[in-house]
Amino acid sequence: MDSKSVDTFQKDVGNLIARNRNLLDILTKCQISCGKFCRSTVKSATGCGCIKITGEKSPLCFSDESNEKSEASIKGKLCPDCRNIIENEIGESMFYIASLCNALGISLSGIMEHEIKKVEALGKYSLH
Ligand SMILES: [Zn+2]
Repeated sequence: MDSKSVDTFQKDVGNLIARNRNLLDILTKCQISCGKFCRSTVKSATGCGCIKITGEKSPLCFSDESNEKSEASIKGKLCPDCRNIIENEIGESMFYIASLCNALGISLSGIMEHEIKKVEALGKYSLH
């Protein structure tokens, strides 16, 4: 995805959003959509059972050969149904984040470019 795609997405969101144009509505929709994909991720384990989420301590160092960070807490793989639900809900979150950026006059692609530079510069030390 290039910055032009992100800019187009952000512009389209601005043109499409009909309701919830108030900043307070946008902020609460961001919270709700984030909560929905978090809930669906948990339900993949507790409802569907296609993945298991453990409370194991994540390793502090990372292997260059594998993604041990995610392997430490997730066992199994999302089934197509759970993956589809989570992807749609993350997309909904992205819609409201783009809407928030529009409301505040912030460039979503600018944010992404900044984050990409940070990750590239700091590598595995850019831990959140
Ligand atoms: Zn599933």
